[in-house]
Amino acid sequence: MNYYSLNHKAPKVSFEEAVVKGLAPDKGLYFPESITKLPDTFFQNIEKMDNVTIAYEVIQQFIGNEIPKNELKAILDDVLNFDFPIEKVEDDIYALELYHGPTMAFKDVGARFMARCLGYFNKDKKENNEVTVLVATSGDTGGAVASGFLGVDGVEVVILYPSGKVSDIQERQLTTLGQNITALEVDGVFDDCQAMVKQAFLDSDYEGKRVLTSANSINIARWLPQMFYFFIAYKALKSKNKKLVFSVPSGNYGNICAGMMAQKLGLPIHHFVTGTNANNVVPNYLETGKYVAKQSVQTISNAMDVGDPSNFIRIKELHNNNFETLRNNLSGYSYSDAETTESIENLYSKFNYIADPHGAIGYLALKAYLKDKTHTLGVFLETAHPIKFLDVMPKTIAKEIKMPPQIEAVLNKDKKRIKISNYNQLKSYLLS
Ligand SMILES: *Cc1c(COP(=O)(O)O)cnc(C)c1O
Repeated sequence: MNYYSLNHKAPKVSFEEAVVKGLAPDKGLYFPESITKLPDTFFQNIEKMDNVTIAYEVIQQFIGNEIPKNELKAILDDVLNFDFPIEKVEDDIYALELYHGPTMAFKDVGARFMARCLGYFNKDKKENNEVTVLVATSGDTGGAVASGFLGVDGVEVVILYPSGKVSDIQERQLTTLGQNITALEVDGVFDDCQAMVKQAFLDSDYEGKRVLTSANSINIARWLPQMFYFFIAYKALKSKNKKLVFSVPSGNYGNICAGMMAQKLGLPIHHFVTGTNANNVVPNYLETGKYVAKQSVQTISNAMDVGDPSNFIRIKELHNNNFETLRNNLSGYSYSDAETTESIENLYSKFNYIADPHGAIGYLALKAYLKDKTHTLGVFLETAHPIKFLDVMPKTIAKEIKMPPQIEAVLNKDKKRIKISNYNQLKSYLLS
């Protein structure tokens, strides 16, 4: 499979090259050259297939012959070795829990898949072809990437995080692993970390010394495997025989965009809903037809504090850059922190369901969309375990949350990180 740049000013590349490069040389996001629907028999038989078989059928066309069948199946077997439960919350409303992986964030699947693809491509290289994954995190990305890439041969991971701006649990997930993972604590905010990473990608001084790549959802190997979630949910709910609507709490819009890709493959999804916080660029766009990027503002659903979502351009491409087509497939709603907290409280008191702030917004958006709909079944994605947001959860609910073993395991480990405060310090680290 070849990939083209959405800026249309760079050569087409293979899957491997797109994964290693991350972003095209013209700064465009990579997009697959063709998308072929899965056969009807796949959907007719899906309930008889296990998750790994489904995932293989879904992702195979995007990789072509670049990873042989047995190797790809082994990668998927390893990536998908935890559960994706779908919990009934109330009549016709389900939560798809994507947080049962090693760092309890939905990003685990994408990070693990990307890591294993890079590991596979490096294995065949005779010369030393070490790749450095450079990533800025405001919280959950760093932990998922650190855990996903831990111990992968030929890959070094450098994570930049803003000092004092990530939770204690998140910081431990980044700083306690060691081996090929290095955490850099930046004296600044997330935007400073992001700016340093961008500067590094533009700096030619690394040529011949380091191959740098990114592990954000702009990377196709992190983005595409998120399609699996929508197929897994369909498999669980197919027998209900109702129209299926997905509500996805969104920040960079990678996850929902993967759902739209699943729809392109023929998955019968009736409609998408996006829930966001005060960072409401996309709901505004759907209302006005004008895309106006904004400076991001801080909220209690901080993984969605994004003012200019990087995957939105892929969403447009999937809808032939036609506003009406997109608006018929996607509805958007935004909520304040107070409404988010109220939603968490409501889900707990009415349905005994503990949602994290992101999932609670997904639920609100879904309810808003379904208000006047019949014969429709709604699924909201629960993107992180509520334990990761203890400090912003209502206190009475916070104390009901049990400590999962994955989190307990990092609590008493020592944090190891290198403090930096400017780009030159990052550069001298990378060139040392
Ligand atoms: C990353 C993240 C999101 C947003 O996902 P996108 O793919 O960037 O839209 C939502 N919730 C949580 C908990 C996340 O970590």
